[in-house]
Amino acid sequence: MIVGAGPVGLVTALLLARHGVPSVVLEAAARRDPSGSKAICFQRDVLDVLDRVGCAERMISRGVTWTTGRTYYRGEELFAVTFPEPGRSAVPPWLNISQAEVEAHLRDLADAEPLADVRYGHPVCGLHQDERGVEVDAGATVRGSHAVGADGGHSTVRRLLGIPFPGRTFADKFLICDIRAELPFPSERRFFFDPEWNPGRQVLVHQCPDGTWRIDWQVPGDHDLDAERASGALDARIRKIVGDVPYELVWSSVYRFHERRAATFASGRAFLAGDAAHLYAPFGARGLNSGVQDAENLAWKLAFVRRGRAPESLLSSYDVERRAAAGENLRVTTRTMEFLVPHTPGQRARRLEALEKARTDPAAHKIIDSGRLAEPFWYLDSPLTTPSGALDGFPREPGAVRPPVPGVICPDGPCVVSGEPTRLRRLLGTEFVVLTAARHAAELQTDVPHRVHALDDIDAEGVLRAALRAGPDTVHVVRPDGHLAGVLPSYDPGAVTGVLDRACGRPV
Ligand SMILES: Cc1cc2nc3c(=O)[nH]c(=O)nc-3n(C[C@H](O)[C@H](O)[C@H](O)COP(=O)(O)OP(=O)(O)OC[C@H]3O[C@@H](n4cnc5c(N)ncnc54)[C@H](O)[C@@H]3O)c2cc1C
Repeated sequence: MIVGAGPVGLVTALLLARHGVPSVVLEAAARRDPSGSKAICFQRDVLDVLDRVGCAERMISRGVTWTTGRTYYRGEELFAVTFPEPGRSAVPPWLNISQAEVEAHLRDLADAEPLADVRYGHPVCGLHQDERGVEVDAGATVRGSHAVGADGGHSTVRRLLGIPFPGRTFADKFLICDIRAELPFPSERRFFFDPEWNPGRQVLVHQCPDGTWRIDWQVPGDHDLDAERASGALDARIRKIVGDVPYELVWSSVYRFHERRAATFASGRAFLAGDAAHLYAPFGARGLNSGVQDAENLAWKLAFVRRGRAPESLLSSYDVERRAAAGENLRVTTRTMEFLVPHTPGQRARRLEALEKARTDPAAHKIIDSGRLAEPFWYLDSPLTTPSGALDGFPREPGAVRPPVPGVICPDGPCVVSGEPTRLRRLLGTEFVVLTAARHAAELQTDVPHRVHALDDIDAEGVLRAALRAGPDTVHVVRPDGHLAGVLPSYDPGAVTGVLDRACGRPV
């Protein structure tokens, strides 16, 4: 049972369906409101998850790809960042497309999926569980083996489970306008500190499909959108950026940020995912992107447990892994917000000093924080991960290439399986993937669902071996969600099944 047919609820249902697990999705709204858009930036590894549910190709064909983020201070470019990738990905590092459009794709896919039963107009208002299942009151009583609360920031499921949601709400306001116009800007993320058209504050500009642009201003706490619209001040504000060209205002909204994390993401057979579990400031695009990663993390574990391939205790790793990921996201966004919206004279002075210094000193660029962009969390300390040894340099600088060590998401790259060209990430989703030398490529004596591939056979171009830093005997065990469960320096079937057992939550 999934509560909430937002993007995270629908992705959960579609991923479960790939595993052959049926779900009922209970949505309070009579139908989804297609207007407006919150998220626009989709990260590469999240696009791979969306590829597995069947909508990444549509998104990529419609969306605006960008590979560079530029940061300006008072009209002067300070620096640009690009997004290195180990291996060779088939999807862009970043794609801009409206959340509303992605939700429409997900709804179409769910409508066509016999294993996903989406019921609109079913607000959940009660929840009970026992050792065999969960029952919710959604007008009618619905019972399932497990429940996923993907019902957003005001989650009823979280309240019914009695899970606290500590954190804070920022007083500062931000204004978003999505406008349609022909503008000469390139498709890049452009972040302006203290531009002459928003003195003392910042502005973020992003290109979106269909000639639309997302402009995001930091505005004073007493900002009144309706009054600005009525007085013509909003038009003047937009014109300072777009100039004299005609434009159409597609959507506008004023919002405040929250930074909150549920005290636990699991209670018995019920789980929280997406905004129900965590809320972040959007600079860095962490909300929806990490919500999809919650869904991916939970779906394979639920499926393995329901199929009797893993003990119920595997599910407790969902809270461990995804709450740690949310903690890292909060650490990053808190730092960003302190830089973007300094509150004390000391913070303000440090920010000004850093911006001034960055004009002439490239070493100061790393202090300038306009929102470090989302990346998948490294499950280095997860109980499911078989560690390989000490890893220096974590947490690492933004833009660093992630090393192929246990806990990190595996790189992508082209490969050929059974004569068919494909890519590594396309082999993932429903079972473990073991990559090893051809002479060891036999199925293992275990009932953990897995597929063994001879790296030397499938890696026709050598991209994967290089990205995985594979030696002649190395064994890489990849989880269904793409994270490396273990990396062994040499082949030993007992050790490989040990990695698989541990990654399934079995005692080893
Ligand atoms: C301005 C802005 C910009 C953003 N930009 C980005 C970005 O670029 N990238 C990014 O990754 N994220 C971004 N985000 C965050 C992103 O929009 C959210 O993280 C995302 O919508 C969360 O999806 P969800 O499915 O968890 O929750 P929601 O989208 O809130 O969906 C929850 C669903 O549950 C339903 N529901 C609620 N209560 C009940 C109930 N009792 N019973 C049944 N159904 C119920 C609701 O009707 C809703 O359909 C942004 C957010 C904002 C505000």
